[in-house]
Amino acid sequence: MSNHLKKKVLITGGAGFIGSHLCERLLGIGHEVLCADNFFTGRRENIVGLLDHPYFEVLRHDVTFPLYVEVDEIYNLACPASPIHYQFDPVQTTKVCVHGAINMLGLARRTKAKILQASTSEVYGDPEEHPQRESYWGRVNPTGIRSCYDEGKRCAETLFFDYHRQHKLKIKVARIFNTYGPKMRPDDGRVVSNFIVQALQGAPITIYGDGSQTRAFCYVDELVDGLIKLMESPDTFTGPVNLGNPAEFTIKQLADKVLEMTGSNSTIEFRPLPGDDPRQRRPDITLAGEVLSWRPVVPLERGLAPTISYFRSLLSP
Ligand code: NAD
Ligand code: UDP
Repeated sequence: MSNHLKKKVLITGGAGFIGSHLCERLLGIGHEVLCADNFFTGRRENIVGLLDHPYFEVLRHDVTFPLYVEVDEIYNLACPASPIHYQFDPVQTTKVCVHGAINMLGLARRTKAKILQASTSEVYGDPEEHPQRESYWGRVNPTGIRSCYDEGKRCAETLFFDYHRQHKLKIKVARIFNTYGPKMRPDDGRVVSNFIVQALQGAPITIYGDGSQTRAFCYVDELVDGLIKLMESPDTFTGPVNLGNPAEFTIKQLADKVLEMTGSNSTIEFRPLPGDDPRQRRPDITLAGEVLSWRPVVPLERGLAPTISYFRSLLSP
């Protein structure tokens, strides 16, 4: 890449699951990457292979505090994404979403950087519209156990659009649907990592509820493609745009697939469904197809294979 195209990119939450893949990809295409993370759910192991890269830098920083650096682009990913982690300290989760957004938007304003927000399908709550389009305003409980995350992310979207209207910031809002792949923590708590770890350890597969609720799972490499395409899209395109794989599965189907692919003889254990757990979720990705020419093609089996291999090597003594 010629030098004038090399950008200084800040990735908050860069040591997390998606963030660490994004750091690696942006370094690979010739950018300079500053990873800011407080390591709440992120792990040094995720970025250890990048530490010797001359254009990679790590900063231990909590985004609820202001940050003064010089950058051209900001990917704001800092926020625990797994329900067990974001519900551990829900007040902090709202602060990360809201104060984190204000601090990063302030930084973008001062440096005139373009800024992308990692929003979520959770802004649709427990949706009545299916599949979910960006025009749907959602059905979110403001006082439940998922609200710190759902409402925090909704408020962050509001802040992004107000900074855009009021201060003419260049913003991008991605509504990310369930994403999986290598570099998830074994104790992340989300469904794909839980099922694989349980299957590999011969422990019971824990299905919450009767397993008829649905999710659509996107392989991380393709999600990262989508984030970069969004960042590189014309300034007139702000989103929000759905990024996810529209192939929809019940949680029971996912459990069966993991059992089959790992060859495990784990049993299935049904546990109570947590409060406000969405019944169904599937992205309508027409907009991403039209504007970004982005459409994921990795089927679940093909993405599960490297994910299972990753956890196998992580768990082997
Ligand atoms: P993750 O938990 O692996 O990564 C989040 C990262 O943010 C971690 O490295 C964590 O240490 C860091 N972090 C948390 N609080 C912080 C703070 N106060 N200051 C600095 N860093 C902080 O989760 P992920 O799956 O990689 O998700 C990344 C982003 O994408 C999150 O914003 C999440 O809401 C969003 N998202 C993810 C998914 C998904 O399926 N993975 C779906 C929708 C949205
Ligand atoms: N889930 C499950 N067993 C687990 C973890 C999750 O049955 O061990 C269910 C969970 O109740 C939800 C779905 O799987 O219906 C996806 O959960 P996850 O935490 O991965 O993401 P989210 O609910 O935020 O989409």
